[in-house]
Amino acid sequence: MVYWVHIARSIDRVTLHRERCAEVPSNFIRTDFWEGGWFDYPDKERALTAMEQAGVTYQQKCPLCKP
Ligand SMILES: [Zn+2]
Repeated sequence: MVYWVHIARSIDRVTLHRERCAEVPSNFIRTDFWEGGWFDYPDKERALTAMEQAGVTYQQKCPLCKP
């Protein structure tokens, strides 16, 4: 199971998604971690660590896929 972390620096929020969530874009551009974007992690633990390290104010889990 892959987990996706969506870092949205413009709105100061990071969101955790599951692998097959409809919100995860099928065609995304991987950007720099410090600029934001979508990042995939092989397990939930690493994804949660990445969320904490993102340094944004709001951390949430996607209400759609409920990771
Ligand atoms: Zn989701």
